[in-house]
Amino acid sequence: MNLKIVTVVGARPQFIKAAVVSRAIAAHNASAHPAKLKEIIVHTGQHFDEQMSGVFFKEMHIPEPDYHYAFNRLSHGAMTGRMLEQIEAVLLDEKPDAVLVYGDTNSTLAGALAASKCNIPVVHVEAGLRSNNMKMPEEINRILTDRMSAVLCCPTQTAMRNLHQEGYDGFGCRVVLTGDVMLDAALHYAKIEDQFSSKAQQITSGLPEYHLATLHRAENTDELQKLSDIIGTLNTLHKHTPVVIPLHPRTKAAIDQYELNLECIAVEPVGYFDMIHLLKHCTFVLTDSGGLQKEAFFFKKPCITLRDETEWVELTEYGFNILAGSSRQRMLEAVNTFTNHTLQWDVSLYGDGKAGSTIVKELLSLVR
Ligand code: UDP
Repeated sequence: MNLKIVTVVGARPQFIKAAVVSRAIAAHNASAHPAKLKEIIVHTGQHFDEQMSGVFFKEMHIPEPDYHYAFNRLSHGAMTGRMLEQIEAVLLDEKPDAVLVYGDTNSTLAGALAASKCNIPVVHVEAGLRSNNMKMPEEINRILTDRMSAVLCCPTQTAMRNLHQEGYDGFGCRVVLTGDVMLDAALHYAKIEDQFSSKAQQITSGLPEYHLATLHRAENTDELQKLSDIIGTLNTLHKHTPVVIPLHPRTKAAIDQYELNLECIAVEPVGYFDMIHLLKHCTFVLTDSGGLQKEAFFFKKPCITLRDETEWVELTEYGFNILAGSSRQRMLEAVNTFTNHTLQWDVSLYGDGKAGSTIVKELLSLVR
């Protein structure tokens, strides 16, 4: 008995999450278990260049996509619509037993919608997260994807609770606490990172201390006031402790367009190994990324989140993460708080680092 899965990915964080499950699928197929999984990978091309896509496939040994498209540089509607049409064609052709989607991008929504319309069960990895901010495109994508899913793989207890409160117990789907695949990734790749992170080692050589920053959310990059407040504050911090910022293409374009002056150590986006190296050795993380907030915690680094809300509320509850929005005052206060307080990191919030194999078991349960 074999099970055919179509995995839909398109954006950077999805490559990292999919790498974990692909590795778990390979491990399962090498085991004595009689049922084997065949994974077909569809890459929508939402992120497409070497630094935002190619490097992750290479260094994390993700199997080459079976279908690779180029749906990028389009408005949200056009992008999602064109993905939907193309993914549907793949599904009609491949006739998989399930479609696996990750996170909250347009690729996630298009994959889930195409599968639902073809009556193919959707498995959503990173289900149940909520920012409660419906202005975020990601929030719309994740809510709609959850509602269409047959199996909802929750990374945290908070995610389980959110779905319970929204009535998912009565929706005939399976809601399961799998833990977070990003913890699996961090634990696995951190062990070998130093052999493959020469770029990060070069960027930080000679720096006794540095902060790590990333910035890419539309709510920050598309509003001049917010963007210039954040960049001005990063410049202020940089005068005291160097700030290393791998620049997302969207942020670089906005900085150029608004002619802002970023005085930090700005570099091109880095690969996952380089990112782990930067995380391991930084002092604080300043970010509007969802994934990086957790990775800061995995590597025991205080995190200042450049948003007014977070899906990872357990981090703020424990004091590992402070929400500063784009406010200069709140950012500087947060730096001050973290400088003067020692945090107790020995709590487990994201599972046991075996989310990948738990998700494979969930996939197998679809054919029982
Ligand atoms: N990341 C990376 N290189 C970079 C910036 C981020 O490898 O230059 C990784 C980061 O470590 C995390 C993931 O990309 O694992 C997060 O992606 P992103 O911030 O784009 O998306 P989000 O998590 O906010 O959805």
